Amino acid sequence: MTKIIKKKNRASSFPNVVSYQEQQNGVIGVEENVNDIIVRGENSFKGWLCWAGIQSLYIDSNNDVYSASCRIHKLGNISDGFKMPEAPLLCTKSWCACAADINTTKIKSKQYTSLVRIAKSIL
Ligand code: SF4
Repeated sequence: MTKIIKKKNRASSFPNVVSYQEQQNGVIGVEENVNDIIVRGENSFKGWLCWAGIQSLYIDSNNDVYSASCRIHKLGNISDGFKMPEAPLLCTKSWCACAADINTTKIKSKQYTSLVRIAKSIL
């Protein structure tokens, strides 16, 4: 069962993400701000599937292109070209530190594929 609880946390003034949380009575969706997730110290997704590189790109000052600002995967360079991945990657970072990275779709395991829109066409 999925239940949306709006404005549960107020670390920031506007919601910009929906997080699904396992509770005793099922999975609930919470509309909140990514800063709420950071405040709770829940921004660690090591071992999760992440859509960085599909939903996001990061380009540094050398024109190197990465899947996200966490630089977990280098895709190439603006000058030489780069290829975007076709499947989500496995997060190996201890912390997901950038708000834009936290906002990128990610799931703990494939059992939650049905909860995220982008996953349906890839997994
Ligand atoms: S650090 Fe964040 S953006 Fe980077 S792979 Fe892990 S979950 Fe995805």
